[in-house]
Amino acid sequence: MSFSLAIVGRPNVGKSTLFNRLVGKRLALVDDQPGVTRDLREGEAKLGDLRFTVIDTAGLENANDDSLPARMRRLTERAVDMADVCLFLIDARAGLLPDDHVFAEILRKRAKHVIIAANKAEGSAADAGVFEAFELGLGEPLRLSAEHGEGMPDLYSVLLPLA
Ligand code: GDP
Ligand code: MG
Repeated sequence: MSFSLAIVGRPNVGKSTLFNRLVGKRLALVDDQPGVTRDLREGEAKLGDLRFTVIDTAGLENANDDSLPARMRRLTERAVDMADVCLFLIDARAGLLPDDHVFAEILRKRAKHVIIAANKAEGSAADAGVFEAFELGLGEPLRLSAEHGEGMPDLYSVLLPLA
């Protein structure tokens, strides 16, 4: 039996980019403007010989509001409840923001299994953000670059025991 993986995290961390890479089709909307994906999207992911269901979470967000919008929170909670595993992405270039801590709390309370990953981790400019990700207390962060396809073997290694 396979498993389902929800990709969660605040807008613009690269969730849809990773979803698209795993699914291999442009099913999820990716845009430079944060928060353009308006609902949950499901696809069949392929990573090496692993096949699993991947869920891209998103929601409406008000760019001028610095607190996590309620709709975004509800959608994330729905995805977390649906999924066997949550892949929590942070943006290694931006470092930790207050909303990342909100997501960490949701995951701590509700998720069956959490994998923490620092995305946009290509290059040494991202090192500080990767170190910060340890502060969330969710274990050792994976170092990923969804855009450049880096870190996929490490993601494979942590998912393999769950398959
Ligand atoms: P989402 O809102 O979390 O779904 O984020 P998106 O997937 O829409 O990506 C937001 C922005 O980050 C886009 O401009 C992406 O091209 C960019 N992005 C995604 N992954 C990476 C990455 O690994 N490195 C860099 N430098 N940018 C990335
Ligand atoms: Mg998105």
